[in-house]
Formats: sequence, structure tokens, C-alpha cells
Amino acid sequence: MRPLFARTPREQPAEPLTGWKLAYPMLSVDGGTAGFSGVTLGRAHVYRWVDDAVCAHGCRHECPSRWCDCGFYCFSDPAAARELACAPEHQGAVLLEVVVSGRYRRYELGLRYSRQRVRTVRLRRCACGGAVSALADTGSGSTGWRRLDPVCGSCAGNRPVLDPSEFARLAGGVELGADEVPAGPVAPLMALGTGHPPAWRSGSAGDPTTSEAGVVAVLSAEVALLQARLDEMQERIDVLEAGRDDDA
Ligand SMILES: [Zn+2]
Ligand SMILES: [Zn+2]
Repeated sequence: MRPLFARTPREQPAEPLTGWKLAYPMLSVDGGTAGFSGVTLGRAHVYRWVDDAVCAHGCRHECPSRWCDCGFYCFSDPAAARELACAPEHQGAVLLEVVVSGRYRRYELGLRYSRQRVRTVRLRRCACGGAVSALADTGSGSTGWRRLDPVCGSCAGNRPVLDPSEFARLAGGVELGADEVPAGPVAPLMALGTGHPPAWRSGSAGDPTTSEAGVVAVLSAEVALLQARLDEMQERIDVLEAGRDDDA
């Protein structure tokens, strides 16, 4: 039978697999540990710099399960993570470079997998356009964890702040850097201003261009996930058909 969908080939990677993803920086309430939380699926769960995926739906199966959408996700291209970062609701997320290990499955934009190590944390600019100098308490988070917001000195206001280098140390000694987006795609923004560097307003909810880019990125990710599940379904159909042929 002709496969309904092209199947992901089995492979043995020769080198460690790496990828890119967005996450919110998190600090434990006792201030002793730093971690990360996802921006889409698994938002409620905080993971450490080296961690194993747990099912986002509370099931006890191993991740990534063929019949579930759980597991860690990453993009193979940092540009895809930056597109996702354009969505207003993802303002405050940082860009992570991760090393993937354990069980994994490919999907159109990257990998879904069981174990990861965060290699670098890249901070985007403050929503006001200034360089980030602190991680400020957002006043929200999840049980036992405060969510932090990368901000410049003036946007930090009177909020409690953590030095980014201290965050990196508490997160296991991850490498810290600034996420400076290549000049090409943002060059047209220069024409809108007065010759100053682009006014980074990608987090403002009222900007239709960036909002649409964010929606497109989210939809692309969802389509890719759907494709991965169809791929899995095709594999299952093949297994069932092979079993029926054996019985015949
Ligand atoms: Zn699951
Ligand atoms: Zn600022």
C-alpha cells in the first residue's frame, strides 16, 4: 500500500543533536535554583538546565510518546524560535540553545525528545528597546517558582531583580549571551525612525505586523505537530497491515 504520508526515516546521529527554543526564565521561591518554563505546551512545568521530559497531560508514559504530544520540543533553526517570539504573549521569553539526547522524533521544524541540556541562554532586548541588564520579578509564575522578565534598568522599576549572570550560575553554569537578530530582516524598520537603530517594539500588543508573524509561527508549529502525528499514525497502520499479511 502506498503510504499516506512520507515517513520520517530512522537514523543514528553521528553528532549531538542541537536545537533552539523559547522559554521563560524562572527562579525558585527560595532563590536557590533557576530553571525554565515552556511558552506553549508544558507551560505549567519548570525544567532544570539538564532535565527529562514529563508528560504535560499527567500520563506516566515515556516521552515522547507516539500517541501523545508531550516531550521537549525544539526548532532546528533559531529563526523559527524568533518568529514565535514575535507573538505578544511571548514577550519576556529568552532564546535557549539546547543539546538533545535520549529518545527523539523529528517533526517538520525540529525535534521532539526526552532529555535536554540547556547550553546557552540568549536574552532578547527589553520591550522598550534597551539592553537587558536585569531579570525582574514579574509577580507571576507557577507553584514554587517566580517567572522573571529580562528588562533594562529603567523598566525594572522597583521590582526585585536578579543579575543575569547570577541566573546563569543558578541555572547550572549555562552560557549567557545577547540575542542580536541579524540586521537583514529588520532593516525596513530603520526607515520608520530617525536613523536610530530599530525601535524594538516586537512585544507590543498593538503592532499588527509582529502579531501576525507570531500567529503564523504558532500555526506553523501546530501544523508541523499535526504532520508528526499523521506520520505516527501511518507507521501504526503499516504495523497493523504487516501483522495482517503475516496472518494471511
Ligand atoms: Zn504524554
Ligand atoms: Zn526597558
